[in-house]
Amino acid sequence: MVPRLSPGEVAAHLPAAPPEEAEDLDRILDDYEWLIEPNVTHWNHPGFLAYFAITGSGPGIVGEALASALNVNAMLWKTSPAATELEERVCGWLRDMLGLPAVFAGHINDTASIGSLLALAAARHRAAPQARERGLVGGAAMTVYCSDQAHSSIDKAVMTLGLGLDQLRHIGTDDAFRLDVDALRTAVEADLEAGLRPIAVVAVAGTTSSTSVDPIAAVAEVAAAHGLWLHVDAAYAGSAAICPELRPLLAGWERADSIVVNPHKWLFTPIDCSVLFVRDPEELKATFSLVPEYLKTGEERVTNLMDLGIQLGRRFRALKLWMVIRAFGVRGLREAIRHHCALAAELAGRIDAHPEIERVAPVPFSTVCFRWTPPGTPEEQDAANELLLAEVNAAGPVHLSHTRLAGRLVLRVAIGNLRTEREHVDHAWRLVLEAVDRLRSGAGWRTPPLRDREPGSTLGER
Ligand code: PLP
Repeated sequence: MVPRLSPGEVAAHLPAAPPEEAEDLDRILDDYEWLIEPNVTHWNHPGFLAYFAITGSGPGIVGEALASALNVNAMLWKTSPAATELEERVCGWLRDMLGLPAVFAGHINDTASIGSLLALAAARHRAAPQARERGLVGGAAMTVYCSDQAHSSIDKAVMTLGLGLDQLRHIGTDDAFRLDVDALRTAVEADLEAGLRPIAVVAVAGTTSSTSVDPIAAVAEVAAAHGLWLHVDAAYAGSAAICPELRPLLAGWERADSIVVNPHKWLFTPIDCSVLFVRDPEELKATFSLVPEYLKTGEERVTNLMDLGIQLGRRFRALKLWMVIRAFGVRGLREAIRHHCALAAELAGRIDAHPEIERVAPVPFSTVCFRWTPPGTPEEQDAANELLLAEVNAAGPVHLSHTRLAGRLVLRVAIGNLRTEREHVDHAWRLVLEAVDRLRSGAGWRTPPLRDREPGSTLGER
């Protein structure tokens, strides 16, 4: 599932120059089979439990292939009416599936990083519309707020928009890694007092490290009191809201100005597919619309997707989402999400029953964070957990990832692939227990560190 390669091993087999003459497709596919396919990390493997696990489902792959075959560019309604209208309709379906109010309109971007960037650009435009023409000159510095658990895409958005990382306030979190609303209020008030201009707050529903959910309703109160744009990053956990019983976890997100949800994370749609919902698309248009002569069409009552963001050209991503939703049905999608949450709850129960393994965060969805706590200093425990992770991943075929929570290194099991079953989670847990036993007894490494391995260990030859 994860190739054992040293950096540069694949590149060493790739000619430095392109072929002058046409090559036979069979030969190219042959090379694909031995050089490329075995040497990617297989995110589609049911034992892939790292980061946020994803799925290239059959219907999604068909949609992706058809989109390539059609090869349309949905920049304007006129340049592909069905692509535009399907995107609007499918985002409307998703909004309704999530239980969001009908006022939200969605469109599809490649990633949540871009969706959040567009949302914060609209927030900046709302606060300083003159910046569109004049740039960020003069006036008070604009500040943005998120928790210390928010995804780095928010930092990148603030950098990209010229607001400056110094103006991004990472607010502290409680012992369940949720944004501290009192601290948020205090920070906004202090900035106002200092003559700064608070413009936006980002609440996260499903943080990357622990899947904690910020108290969105309370954050919405602060946003309303101070006229801040409220953006909700629900890239991973937003999909859970298709299950009515999980929806209360996201309570308050319906008050947002914008929300980002990634069907390419937990809605079984091949990457890339991220939906940005906005309460008022006119604000996005005011931020981004700019129509040169050669793109004027005269149609007035249509959506031209190019008006909603930076990019002009646009892939037909709605096709795969449409196929996924239809082929599974809302019920099928809900069942898959419930199954993942049940597997995660079961694993959490095993962790809780283990005397030396500690669960380090609540499990509201399908991701479990834990750490081994052998006797020793916190730093020694971190080192032990690093070894544990390496042991488990070396044993395979499972792949886990790590993060830091409250300063300590922890392991993550993220269940989200459609093909992940109990047996895969059981296997991962068995490997954890075996590795703990081995490490506790001082038996050490199952595999040597990468730098000590023979090069080309999994790279076959033609
Ligand atoms: N937001 C959260 C909470 C995430 O966990 C991630 C990625 O895992 C992102 C945003 C960025 O997602 P993307 O890769 O779609 O930009």
